[in-house]
Amino acid sequence: MILFCQPLSPLLLFWGMLPSDLLTTHFRLDEPHKKALKRLGILTIENLLLHLPQRYEDISSIQSVGSLVKDQDAVVFGQLGGLNTRKSWKSRVPISEGWIEDGTARIKIMWFNQPYIAKMLTDGLYVKVAGKVTGTEGKLYLANPEVEKLDSLPIDRHDSIFKDTEQLDETIYPVYRETKGVTSKWFYHTVQKCFSSSVLDKLIDPIPEGILKRYNLPTLNTALIWIHTPKKAEHAQSARKRFAFEEVFYIQTAKAKERATINVSNSYIVKTEQSHLDKFIERFPFPLTKAQARTIDDIMKDFGGKHPMSRLLEGDVGSGKTAVAATTAYAVATSRPPEGSGKKLEFGALQVAYMAPTEILAKQHFESFIQYFAHLPIAIGLITGSGCMKFPSKGNPTKPTTISRTQLLKWVKNGEIPILIGTHALIYKSVEFKHLAHVIIDEQHRFGTGQRRALAKKDTRMPHLLSMTATPIPRTLALTVYGDLDISLLDEMPKGRKPIITKLSTPSQIDKVYEHIRSELKAGRQAYVICPRIDEPDPTKENALQLKSVKQEAQRLKEQIFKDARIDILHSKMTPKEKDTVMEKFMKHEVDILVATSVVEVGVNVPNATNIIIEGAERFGLAQLHQLRGRVVRGTHQAYCFSVTSKDSTGKSGKTLERLKALTQAKNGFELAEYDLTQRGSGELYGLKQWGLSDLGMEALKNIKLVEAARKEAQRLIEEDQELTKHPIIATKIATISKTLHME
Ligand code: ADP
Ligand code: MG
Repeated sequence: MILFCQPLSPLLLFWGMLPSDLLTTHFRLDEPHKKALKRLGILTIENLLLHLPQRYEDISSIQSVGSLVKDQDAVVFGQLGGLNTRKSWKSRVPISEGWIEDGTARIKIMWFNQPYIAKMLTDGLYVKVAGKVTGTEGKLYLANPEVEKLDSLPIDRHDSIFKDTEQLDETIYPVYRETKGVTSKWFYHTVQKCFSSSVLDKLIDPIPEGILKRYNLPTLNTALIWIHTPKKAEHAQSARKRFAFEEVFYIQTAKAKERATINVSNSYIVKTEQSHLDKFIERFPFPLTKAQARTIDDIMKDFGGKHPMSRLLEGDVGSGKTAVAATTAYAVATSRPPEGSGKKLEFGALQVAYMAPTEILAKQHFESFIQYFAHLPIAIGLITGSGCMKFPSKGNPTKPTTISRTQLLKWVKNGEIPILIGTHALIYKSVEFKHLAHVIIDEQHRFGTGQRRALAKKDTRMPHLLSMTATPIPRTLALTVYGDLDISLLDEMPKGRKPIITKLSTPSQIDKVYEHIRSELKAGRQAYVICPRIDEPDPTKENALQLKSVKQEAQRLKEQIFKDARIDILHSKMTPKEKDTVMEKFMKHEVDILVATSVVEVGVNVPNATNIIIEGAERFGLAQLHQLRGRVVRGTHQAYCFSVTSKDSTGKSGKTLERLKALTQAKNGFELAEYDLTQRGSGELYGLKQWGLSDLGMEALKNIKLVEAARKEAQRLIEEDQELTKHPIIATKIATISKTLHME
């Protein structure tokens, strides 16, 4: 009888639980909970199960209250109770007391002469308490312990899976990314409840079985259990590896599919004799480096193939990417279009579009190209937001001239201008080419198939694509985010460059640095000063780190250090027009010192600026510092880089300095990027967010074998099933990825 009056067993609530069920179907959630979960994107049971722990904590050092003995230094977790404050009747010293309880027992706590302590604490609080066990057996208490308030208690052995484990060699519990309203403990227990239903059996593993077997990865079910409730650290690791693989695999599959769609389109076949190219190359005022020659070869091979080229050219700042771009542009601009329908040769040549990320850079490329093409009857156009130009001018065949946009577009459309250089303005709808055969992109990470196709327009042929970058990223990241591209590496600097002199400095040594800069300014050189922030930090948030800001540092330098120098500033909050004006002035040497944030990173070339001071250097990744210092290795004068830490001793300064020392030793940016990946952890990898990888995915990048495996499997999958008709779950996943990666 009594049984009937009891509420239904909670287990029944989980009966028939499906992965797609809303959490609210099975769990009673109050409003704050619901809101918090929504913020984390967790609506369904499946969402919850795939909300993976961020890390694990070892609880083997936690003691239970019941086990405490006299004189022990104890650390216990529990709930406070019975708090009150009184005065001892003898000494009139205020005494606060209470107890802590952890499910095994309760122990008294006494604080002497700390009347405020009871005011800061309340009954029922979750706390961590650390102090000495005093008193006599049976009447033990903790005297003056330290108390730390907690959001929740760690899952302890008494209420967890660890309770019944025989081999308790590891005692780790998961810690989830918490948000206001949901604790790690809630996640843990709720996931456990899901596990007690049969929901795991209803999940479909999207990764083909063969792949899991080949790489010894756990199935989805097992991996979920292992990642949420590991009995051994090994299990957690193995499960994390699986999910990391899965993430990289989806990206690789998306990329492989993209590549496959490019491969079915036709391209312009460009076949150029080496002797023809040599004539162009011979006119460079330098011999090509081996790496440049090899890259040009790679590209010429692609040009002659059946499919459109998709190639990434990675090369440090100053490694000579422009010369490679110019040579390949030459090959294209001197090739004839294929025969038209009437079998007669069409007028003009194949065309090249060369896109730069900023107006300054577009102009610089235009000027370099004029030098390289000056002797040839090949017209070059420039299109930017603020105007258009054409080389050569009708009146003066050695000079460019300003022309109207309408005129330029007309000549591009009828094929009279074979080479068009520009900013993003290049891909506007109004720009139409006659035979666009080759697209070159400088420093543009996000340029997807969609944009490429848009450029091809009505033309049935897809242009070849050469994407160039100086952003040093580790090989694993390149293989992943550029999975659809073949990669060429310029890993060799032109000969005869004076290597930059890099010095590490602390604030107390800065006077010497300034002295050096003064002598350089006197000799007619210019300098950059890089600061980590734009403005002074909010003074109410007294930060331990005193980071220099562009505005204040510029003022200070002007008033106290370089009184005669012309100083200006550059940062990301300025409009493009303002930035251009300042850069123009710096280029013309109307400014001696440019105080800037890291915005100067991207490819600006001012050969006379041979000094760079980087303040707060420990804040930057090595690869980024390397790129910044690349700003000053353009000229023929000796270049200097001073990396200044923000404090004389930066905490674990030994490590910081050691890390910065790598800057003085590494051969190139890619080496530094690898170093960053292993030393600082992927989480801090420069520019992390733009790649759209989760923390777990970034972790995977430390494992080249895993990345290569994911790539190989993705390519194999697409070869077998290009439209992924047999793998609908994967198809859905990669549709989302393609969207976020390209913002198409
Ligand atoms: P980046 O790879 O950063 O775009 P650039 O193409 O701007 O580098 O080249 C940097 C400088 O090096 C330019 O002044 C260019 O003329 C010069 N340069 C390029 N290739 C060589 C080479 N093989 N030998 C000597 N100088 C070179
Ligand atoms: Mg460049």
